Amino acid sequence: MKKILVANRGEIALRIMRTIRKMGLRSVAVFSQADRDSLHVRFADESVCIGPAPSSQSYLNGEQIIKVCKGLGADAIHPGYGFLSENAVFAQQVEDAGITFIGPGSEAMRIMGSKLAAKKSVKKYDIPMVPGIDHAVTDVVHAKQIADEIGYPILIKASAGGGGKGMRVVHHPDAMLEQMERAIGEATSSFADGSVFIEKYISSPRHVEVQIIADKHGNVIHAFERECSVQRRHQKVVEESPSSIITPELRKRMGDAAVLVAKSCNYSSLGTVEFLMDEKLNFYFLEMNTRLQVEHPVTEMITGLDLVEIQIRIAMGEPLILKQEDLSMNGHAIELRVYAEDPLNNFLPSIGVLTRYEKPEGEGIRVDDGYEQNMSIPIYYDPMIAKLVVHGTTRAEAIRRMILAVRSYKIDGVKTTLPFGTFVFEHEAFVSGNFDTHFVPKYYLPEKILEKQKANAEVAALLALKIWKKNSQLLKVVAHQSTNWKRRLSN
Ligand code: ADP
Repeated sequence: MKKILVANRGEIALRIMRTIRKMGLRSVAVFSQADRDSLHVRFADESVCIGPAPSSQSYLNGEQIIKVCKGLGADAIHPGYGFLSENAVFAQQVEDAGITFIGPGSEAMRIMGSKLAAKKSVKKYDIPMVPGIDHAVTDVVHAKQIADEIGYPILIKASAGGGGKGMRVVHHPDAMLEQMERAIGEATSSFADGSVFIEKYISSPRHVEVQIIADKHGNVIHAFERECSVQRRHQKVVEESPSSIITPELRKRMGDAAVLVAKSCNYSSLGTVEFLMDEKLNFYFLEMNTRLQVEHPVTEMITGLDLVEIQIRIAMGEPLILKQEDLSMNGHAIELRVYAEDPLNNFLPSIGVLTRYEKPEGEGIRVDDGYEQNMSIPIYYDPMIAKLVVHGTTRAEAIRRMILAVRSYKIDGVKTTLPFGTFVFEHEAFVSGNFDTHFVPKYYLPEKILEKQKANAEVAALLALKIWKKNSQLLKVVAHQSTNWKRRLSN
């Protein structure tokens, strides 16, 4: 393998290309007309425009991407995350074209891409599952019967779901019809597959996931867990590794379960097995993500691994040289997703030009981003600007480092999740480790951010006044001092 095409954009395209370069390979960028001046295009050894801004006409245009790949003689495609990364049909077309897809085989992707097929696949192993059904349901009367058996509250979920879409909590049978119609509608419009199923709604769960590394020779290991419970709209914003509540014994049990999930579908490549965990630390299999995960840097920070390099080597057919016992955790890492969103206005996207963009630097700080000052955030794609990742010897040190790093991250022109990050990292529940996926609805008060901004503005105004007074004092002194020049004038 000599040349790899990266079928993605933004921070993840850049992050992947850095490893490609480090490995002595060549990279090809593909880009939409909106991304002509992006950093991933400048960084790549070769780059090709694949279409207009909307992703359906560019980053999701698999045929065009394969054509570019063949035309430039690239040996492999790295899909990153999002876009075509979990599209089994695309993976198959890539393989059929004689190109290596850097990810699992299309069959494993097909199974794990459907939450229902995934449940069926792991059934043969003794893996705890969230109580619920493992088939699609369309009839409301049948759905109510199932919900009665499971017990309310229940969750209606889209089988093809992703990004928290197509999910509806139902607390009472009366709401079932309306919520089912909504879930089916959302699933059909987002995933072109209206199958929904029912699961027990776990009231205060934590989201804990395990990083899997599997080669094409049957070796499967895990690189510990990531805690991703701080979410808004069922989507992660803050992740950390290790989780503050997992004991070594529990880590081993979860790790073993995750390895079995991967084995259930002959998985090879990087993958993430997601679990929900209740208050009593019982864990349940949720789903498997068959790609490089957004939050992979926290695992890299505590293990010292380059996960993208491992993923590429696996795709090349190399056997894993690492054994489970070779891996160890060093310190603690936390990631904040810096989105162009307004944390004071329901996290709505805040699109615009980055009139100021200065990122933090220093020991234990890593910023994975795809922007520079004066670049604009396009409305067509996910509004993530960067991932701010810190490492510390302890969790407390990592939190301290994160608070300072957020403070020195200066972004003007758009609203960001940075002030939300400060709220989280200073909050007693996060600091103590005692929180769940309801952190935002339970604790988050946008007023606190406003109060803080007001207090900061007052301090800044007082400081400015102090400086002004000092300067005017100096001016007076200067005005009273006679100078030779004055004397010369009067002569
Ligand atoms: P998606 O594929 O859309 O990301 P997931 O199944 O991974 O969906 O779930 C995303 C989030 O939704 C979880 O992290 C959790 O916060 C919440 N969630 C999912 N299933 C349940 C459940 N059965 N009970 C409570 N919360 C759930």
